[in-house]
Amino acid sequence: MNKCIYCNERPAEVPDRRTYTGGRFVKKVCTICHGKLLRGDLINIVRLESKRAAELAESPVTSANNRIV
Ligand SMILES: [Zn+2]
Repeated sequence: MNKCIYCNERPAEVPDRRTYTGGRFVKKVCTICHGKLLRGDLINIVRLESKRAAELAESPVTSANNRIV
């Protein structure tokens, strides 16, 4: 069993999507590090989404286009 490429402590149980090339399913990351990576992704997504929502709310063109007539 390979060790996780991030912590090098726990057994690798899921593939690393950063080095995933498609086709080959190679386990490289433990579930704990996988969870940490997903958490980082979610934080980025939420940050981007709230930024986009703020921009849409501030844009007069977009709010005019989105208005229900
Ligand atoms: Zn790990």
